[in-house]
Amino acid sequence: MNQQFLLPERPLTVAILGSSGAVGKELLALLEERSFPIEKLILLASNRSAGETQSFCGTALKIQATTQESFQNVDLILASAGSSISRRWKDVIQSSGALMIDNSSAFRMDEDVPLIVPEVNPEDAIKHKGLIANPNCTTILLALVLAPLTRHIPIKRVVVSTYQSASGAGAMAMEELEQLSQQVLDGLTPKSKVLPYSLAFNLFLHNSPLESNNYCEEEMKMLNETRKILGDPKLALTATCVRVPVLRAHSEAVNIEFIKPFQLKDAHKILESAPGVEILEDFGNNRFPMPSDVTGSDQISVGRIRQDISNPNALELWLCGDQIRKGAALNAVQIAELLLPKKS
Ligand code: NAP
Repeated sequence: MNQQFLLPERPLTVAILGSSGAVGKELLALLEERSFPIEKLILLASNRSAGETQSFCGTALKIQATTQESFQNVDLILASAGSSISRRWKDVIQSSGALMIDNSSAFRMDEDVPLIVPEVNPEDAIKHKGLIANPNCTTILLALVLAPLTRHIPIKRVVVSTYQSASGAGAMAMEELEQLSQQVLDGLTPKSKVLPYSLAFNLFLHNSPLESNNYCEEEMKMLNETRKILGDPKLALTATCVRVPVLRAHSEAVNIEFIKPFQLKDAHKILESAPGVEILEDFGNNRFPMPSDVTGSDQISVGRIRQDISNPNALELWLCGDQIRKGAALNAVQIAELLLPKKS
């Protein structure tokens, strides 16, 4: 790999922008867990949590408010503070020479920004110009399944329905679900402040803004980002995204139509050996993946892979994945790992 695209060959100075958030906390834990080569770790957030401490490798580190100076002499910035914050600091980060791996949607569809799922398109990472985007969480989980299948028989069309947990909307949405659930149990009427409606014992269509075609942003991200990751700009995909009262981990019901029939046994064989994927199927006990199975897991779980009875060219399957982990933080750390110089 061309050296100029790699991270420096020495313990790195790494900054987490948004370290106090749902994704930021997971990034912190993963950097420690995976022994990422760090000399110095800088924790950045807003004034709201500046001064609080977070633990890294047994040391309490103070969170700092983000300023112009925050990015000087930093090798790698893992950004998870939302699109507007990523946009605000992008030029400062780029002129500092640091590599930015961004969890927000701000730059995902920019032509010169690679959009990477390391198990699917790692080779695109070296095309970066100082900025790599981490895809949308539901898209990452889906791409892990679609990529190995479409390499065997090309996909014609995908129909996906998502069941997205509160954590997809951040740490405060998780807290809100717990609080509002308690309010319902106490016989009160829950009043939401973080999400537009109460998720307690309820569900609603994804709260991202609607586009002119009446799909919401999240659904359009699934279409556009999947096309970019798979390198298939004509892929047909339609999504319905739903928020459900689950604290953590997303689920998806996926119908995949291929250009010709796909043998079920071949699908099993391919998915069994697909990186980042495990099959969890117990037909005898009607037991398939659940969000609680994958919470904290690096792998997504797939089950009830079956022939679509309405279409001989299509398969149906169900998947669950920890979207804070594989759908965000783990994927970002894996991208950074792709760019570590290989030890000879
Ligand atoms: P979150 O829990 O709401 O955390 C947001 C983080 O951004 C906090 O650390 C917050 O710090 C920080 N922040 C807010 N305003 C800031 C400012 N002005 N300057 C610096 N930092 C600021 O959100 P999240 O769920 O972790 O999501 C973070 C990003 O990852 C978003 O772009 C989201 O779309 C993306 N993402 C999330 C998921 C997921 O499952 N949650 C999955 C994929 C991608 P304070 O504590 O100081 O407010």
